[in-house]
Amino acid sequence: MPNLYSYYTQVIFLVFIVTNHLVEVYLTRRQLKMYQEHAEAPPQEFVEFLTPGDHQKAIQYSSAKLRMTQFHLIFDACLMLYWFPMRGADQLYAGIGMEGMHKEVFFLVFFSLIQFALNLPWSLYSTFILEEKFGFNKSTPKLFVMDRMKGLVLGGVIGLPLLYAIFFLFNYLGNYWWLASFLLLTAIQFSLIWLYPTVIAPLFNKFHPLEGEELKQGIETLVKEAGFNAREVFVMDASRRSSHGNAYFTGFGKNKRVVFFDTLLKQLKTPEILAILAHELGHMKLKHIPKSMVVSLVLSFIGFWLMGRLSNEAWFYHGHFMRVTSPGILLFLFMQALPIYSFWFSPISSWISRKKEFEADQYAAEQTNPENLIQGLLKLYQQNASPIVTDKIYSGFYHSHPPALDRIKKLRSFKH
Ligand SMILES: [Zn+2]
Repeated sequence: MPNLYSYYTQVIFLVFIVTNHLVEVYLTRRQLKMYQEHAEAPPQEFVEFLTPGDHQKAIQYSSAKLRMTQFHLIFDACLMLYWFPMRGADQLYAGIGMEGMHKEVFFLVFFSLIQFALNLPWSLYSTFILEEKFGFNKSTPKLFVMDRMKGLVLGGVIGLPLLYAIFFLFNYLGNYWWLASFLLLTAIQFSLIWLYPTVIAPLFNKFHPLEGEELKQGIETLVKEAGFNAREVFVMDASRRSSHGNAYFTGFGKNKRVVFFDTLLKQLKTPEILAILAHELGHMKLKHIPKSMVVSLVLSFIGFWLMGRLSNEAWFYHGHFMRVTSPGILLFLFMQALPIYSFWFSPISSWISRKKEFEADQYAAEQTNPENLIQGLLKLYQQNASPIVTDKIYSGFYHSHPPALDRIKKLRSFKH
């Protein structure tokens, strides 16, 4: 039966749902205001970096995206209120006419499919209206559908057996099911990170080695310094979906890659490519992937331990507006309700991520001329129509990369 404890939890949960979304809308409005204040021209300290035309396009594009985000946040808030206080999820669970493990698995499957369908209009609007309007979209309806289908199949192939395995452990391992589930999930996550560069990413894109006589020598020198292999530097056909540009690093151990979007390469001169490569190699050399894997391992262990502790506590279920105690609902609450509380940690994870970007920049500045990375970064901003101005608090919450001006100032301070 619901006790006082579960009513308190309900009130706290409700307050968090409403507050989080209000805070997010508020942050978005702050950022929008910042853009409006600088709609015509960038602040004085940025003038040397970009043309008024590029600046105005970036402001218009990013303001349009943020306006959509505001509606999306309100939509999300309504959904959360429907699933939890209005007991949508509770009724969904009750309505599944199956027994035992199948009921648990299909509750999660149906919920994910409903969320997928509800998100579809947003991604359609974003891809074919918003991105299209600003000339970024290169995707076709066929490619869009194929991407979604592949995503669903991949989710099913990995997710379904995993869910059955977790519920099997729950039923047969007694008190230690959470530990076994944690080990199982960790093994799968590690395999996925390991397989991502060579098996999963190629399902969506084509990759070929980064080549070119002029580049070759520079790449050889840089990769050798970082303990890397030149065969691990790739170009991806990002241009089939969008004209946005980027570069990233992925994988670990022997299965790692630095990947350039073909769209970005087209804009860059050789020394700028090498500077960005040096930045990505910096992430590798400084072991940023293994380090974040350790952090997520610890967090996931705590999460599973908590699940083990809470699995039989009725107040936890009632406190989140679910009447029944079951392993499927437990997983559901940890995936859907817990992020409402962990939202408040996002400034910390964003800060850690920005710190790593500075470290990779510093590494790049030691290996190449920092001015080349500055030029490469500015082209990246220009190509993606990312405004160079940002609200400090908004950025502190959401941005995984430091503001452009901070990066440029720091890079200039490394100048040799
Ligand atoms: Zn980086």
